[in-house]
Amino acid sequence: MEEKIPYRFVLSEDQMPKQWYNLRADMKELPPPLLNPETLQPITKEELYPMFCKELAHQELDTTTRYFDIPEEVLDIYKVYRPSPLMRAYNLEKALGTPAKIYYKYEGNNTSGSHKLNSAVAQAYYAKQQGLSSLTTETGAGQWGTALSEACGYFGIPLTVYMVKGSAAQKPYRKILIQTFGADVVESPSMTTEAGRKILAEMPNTTGSLGCAISEAVEKARTSENSKYVLGSVLNQVLLHQSIIGLEAKKAMELLDEQPDIIIGCAGGGSNIGGLIAPFMKEKIEGKTNTRFIAVEPASCPSLTRGKYAYDFCDTGRITPLAKMYTLGCDFIPSANHAGGLRYHGMSPIISKLYDDGYIEAISVEQTRVFEAATLFSRVETILPAPESSHAIRAAIDVALECKKTGESKTILFCLTGSGFFDMSAYDSFLNKTMSDYIPSDEDLQKGFAKLPKV
Ligand SMILES: *Cc1c(COP(=O)(O)O)cnc(C)c1O
Repeated sequence: MEEKIPYRFVLSEDQMPKQWYNLRADMKELPPPLLNPETLQPITKEELYPMFCKELAHQELDTTTRYFDIPEEVLDIYKVYRPSPLMRAYNLEKALGTPAKIYYKYEGNNTSGSHKLNSAVAQAYYAKQQGLSSLTTETGAGQWGTALSEACGYFGIPLTVYMVKGSAAQKPYRKILIQTFGADVVESPSMTTEAGRKILAEMPNTTGSLGCAISEAVEKARTSENSKYVLGSVLNQVLLHQSIIGLEAKKAMELLDEQPDIIIGCAGGGSNIGGLIAPFMKEKIEGKTNTRFIAVEPASCPSLTRGKYAYDFCDTGRITPLAKMYTLGCDFIPSANHAGGLRYHGMSPIISKLYDDGYIEAISVEQTRVFEAATLFSRVETILPAPESSHAIRAAIDVALECKKTGESKTILFCLTGSGFFDMSAYDSFLNKTMSDYIPSDEDLQKGFAKLPKV
C-alpha cells in the first residue's frame, strides 16, 4: 500500500538549507538595474553603502552568484523556528470536496508570527557584523517591526520602531511585544523628529500613515551616529533571504515524491512569493517543469493587476534608489477600510520582471472574500491565518473548487505567511459585517501614476 503523506512534514535540522538561492543568476533576462535617483544612472555598490550594510549592498546588486552561504550565526536562530512545516491540508480538501491536493508552507510558527523574521535575522546579523550602533524602521501592520525587534533583541542591537499611530491603537499587544524584545516603539507621527513635528502641526489629530512613519525612521537613522534604516520586503536582498521558504518546500516535496502544478503566494512587496517560488521558477526557466505561479493581491491595492511597470521609489519617503517595478505610485495609500494588509504601493523588481515576461500570473481579490476564506480555513485547519496570508488561501480554494468542477487532481502549494493573532479587529469587522470592499477607480489610480518620477 502507498504510504500516506503526513498532515505535517518537517525536514530535520540537518536537512535545512545552508545557502540562500539567488534566482537572478538563472533568469533569462534580468530586471532593469536600480537607478540612482539623482543621476538616473545604474546605482553602484558604493552609492548603496550609506543606505545598506556592505554585505547587503553586495547582495542587492549581485545578479550572478547563484548561492550565498547563510552565516552560522543566522543558522543558529533559524534553527529555533526552522525548518518550517509543510502541511497537507487534508481537512480543507475534505471540506471543499476537491480532488486537488493542497499543501501549504506554514511560516507563522515563530513569535513574530510571519515569514519576515527570515530576513530580519539576516539584516540584524549584518548590522551587528558591521558594528552599527543602532537600526530604525517603520511598521504598519506590525509584523515587520516585531520580526526586526526579535532579531535585534537576539543580536543586542538597539532598534527604534516608528509604528503608525492608528495601528498601535488597533494592536496594542503588538506594541508591547516589540517592547518586550527590547526595541523602542515611537507612535508616528511623533514629536521626536522634524518630519513628525511638521505633520502634527498641520494635522494634530492624524492617526498617521506608513509614509510618515518611514520619513521619521529615515530621519532618525540619518541623525543618529552609525545607524541605518532597514526595509522588510521588495528589495532583492530580502527575496534572497526568503528563498529559504522555497528551498525547504522543494526539498520536502521531493522527499514526499510530490511536484506542485500550481504555486500561489500573496503579494505585498513580493518577498514571500519571491522566496517560495525561487527554486521552482529555476526549473520552469530551464524548461524542466511547467508549473503555474499565481500572485494574489488585494483589489484595493492592485499593483500587479492595475499598476504601471515603471521606475519608482521603493519607499514613500523617496529616499531609496529607483526600481523598475509594477507600481501604483509611491504616495498611493489604500482606502481606510482596507483591513487585509498588503498595502504596499509597488512590487519586487524580480517579481515584476517575471510577471512582465509572462512567467507569473496575478489576480486580485476583495477583502470580504479573503476573510470568508480565512474563517473557513481557521475552522477546518485549526490555524488562524493572517489576513495577508488569506489572500493566498482564497486563491488556493478557488483553484481547488475549479478542480472539483473539472475532476482534475492538481497539486497546489501556497505559502501561509503568518498567523492572525494580532488581527482580531479586522476579523471583528468581517464577523460583524462592517467590512466593505473598496476598489479604487481608474481616476484614483491616475493620481498616483501622475506623480511617478520622470525617468
Ligand atoms: C508582510 C507580510 C506579507 C506581505 O509581504 P511580502 O513581502 O509580499 O511577502 C504577507 N503576509 C504576512 C503575514 C506579512 O507579514
